[in-house]
Amino acid sequence: MAIQPIRLFGDPVLTVAAEPVTSFDAELRGLVKDLQDTMLDAPGAGLAAPQIGVSLRVFVYDVDEIVGHLINPVIKQLSDQCQEGDEGCLSFPGLTFPTRRAQSVVAEGFNMYGDPVTVAGSDLLARAVQHEVDHLDGILFIDRLDAEQRKLAMRAIREAEWSGLSVPRVKISPHATGGLPV
Ligand SMILES: [Zn+2]
Repeated sequence: MAIQPIRLFGDPVLTVAAEPVTSFDAELRGLVKDLQDTMLDAPGAGLAAPQIGVSLRVFVYDVDEIVGHLINPVIKQLSDQCQEGDEGCLSFPGLTFPTRRAQSVVAEGFNMYGDPVTVAGSDLLARAVQHEVDHLDGILFIDRLDAEQRKLAMRAIREAEWSGLSVPRVKISPHATGGLPV
């Protein structure tokens, strides 16, 4: 079991598009395990790899007591019918906002062994899949709020006790700089 620290809003890894998985190897299976362990510990209904700092197209979910994962997901169908309801995110601890999502979804992708799989569901599963696929595109649930809710969300984020904790740290380049101060 390897629970990883969850990246908070403000961390740049959360707002870039993640890379497709190309090797279905032991390292990938370790990543899926870490994601599941971290999600179950939090607990949350879903967790995407960028949320633990890994910019790969992988997410896990835990809905109706089914724990699953999907790699390189592609949303194939979204219902025209929508669901309303509060939504939160492990990268925004303690905050939920009313977020409109499609009522049902069909997503295709792969399991950690490289076999094609389809995830189809409605209600919370559909919400989780849409939320997690968004993460892999660098889109956060606050980007899906209407203008008024987004304003409220930004205020609540500024006032949250974790706000600013993930201000990006300056990393020292591993590359030789020829003695130049960079
Ligand atoms: Zn999230």
